[in-house]
Amino acid sequence: MTNRIAVLALFLLFAATLATLHAQSSPASDSSSPAVVATTPVAAGAPIVEYAPPPAEYARAKAYSNSHYRHVFIGAFYGFLILLVILRWRVAPAFRNLAERASSSRFVQRIIFAPLILFTIAVLGIPSDIWDESLQRAYGLSVQTWGAWTRDWILGQAIMLIVGTLLVGILYGVIRRSPRRWWFYFWLASIPIVLLMFFLQPIVVDPLFYTFKPLAGAQPVLVSEIQKVVHRGGMEIPADRMFVMNASSKTTGLNAYVTGFGASKRVVVWDNTIAKATVPETLFVFGHEMGHYVLLHIPKEMAIISAILLFLLYLGYRLSNGMLARWGAQWGIRDLQDWASLPVLLFVITLLAFLATPVFNGVSRHFEHEADRYGLEVIHGIVDNPNQVAAHYFQKSGEKNLSDPDPSEFVKIWFFDHPTRPERVHFVATYNPWSSGEEPKYVK
Ligand SMILES: [Zn+2]
Repeated sequence: MTNRIAVLALFLLFAATLATLHAQSSPASDSSSPAVVATTPVAAGAPIVEYAPPPAEYARAKAYSNSHYRHVFIGAFYGFLILLVILRWRVAPAFRNLAERASSSRFVQRIIFAPLILFTIAVLGIPSDIWDESLQRAYGLSVQTWGAWTRDWILGQAIMLIVGTLLVGILYGVIRRSPRRWWFYFWLASIPIVLLMFFLQPIVVDPLFYTFKPLAGAQPVLVSEIQKVVHRGGMEIPADRMFVMNASSKTTGLNAYVTGFGASKRVVVWDNTIAKATVPETLFVFGHEMGHYVLLHIPKEMAIISAILLFLLYLGYRLSNGMLARWGAQWGIRDLQDWASLPVLLFVITLLAFLATPVFNGVSRHFEHEADRYGLEVIHGIVDNPNQVAAHYFQKSGEKNLSDPDPSEFVKIWFFDHPTRPERVHFVATYNPWSSGEEPKYVK
């Protein structure tokens, strides 16, 4: 969590919410792979209608979920605390003095100041980062070594420093030129940058952390089944836009996602999913992802989030001026144009983004629900009993992934960017417009 604070909160928002529109997050327990997709009976026992893990699994999932929620809140407050301590101890003014003594060039000052302050924030966040990874390890969700984790942490920080330094330059450029309307110009400038980052993410950033191989090479049978689903949806997703990711090197979870923009847009399936889910289940997962792709969820979500962000930036502008008027002198900050005001801006934007979490989650849950619906519709007629295929997948993956079996409304609003596990199982088990003679919503 604290890691995120450093990457100019604004871009976190975009990155966290948009970089990956996740499908189902969690492993399936059995790995039966029926050879004949359309004729394999799905359920041996009674059909699943509600999410119901066995008692032992239930207790374990509950314990993990409660720890996870605590981590998110404590992590967020720890992040705010770091920024307040930095302000109180006048760390930023010290770095600013150093930068200003070194050169009168704003560019050189930025190259010195921004990495120093961003790296300091990141280092102070390490305890929180280690604590989070420890939880994943304690419950067997993370299987990477601490060495591999450290490598990823360093790599992630290096990217954060480069992008952060660039953004700090743009931010202070617009603040100096337009002290009263910088929030609007920064928002405007952020749009092409976010699009560029989003475009580059799958081709530049993601390969630094995982290996991607064409799905067609690894799973030719699966790809031909997938192409049936693609055609059923009346779509063209070329095989070279489908990839397998070696997620098993780091996690036991099951997942798939769509990412990228324009020419870099693609569907990525985790190798765990292919290994552990049945072929019909994988087709459902793919159908869900295809829904995001076909229904243009990425650009839609981007547009909505951008609009919310403009509002948050305006509030941030008002709030940061208020804070500086009240405490600026005490913190050694001259005004907003001073490099040293960066922790104030980070604090304000991060706080507002944190408070807006329920809104961002609500937007995301809506699109995820529609992707579940699309996934069911698009495999109808290709897979036998799509309702039970999807229900079984959510049941098994929910158990393995320690999904909260019974989240409260408060927990749902704050922590769920997908519908809850019980909601998803219930929906996919019961959504059946065909049986009642209604029109499916997306795939006619
Ligand atoms: Zn999704």
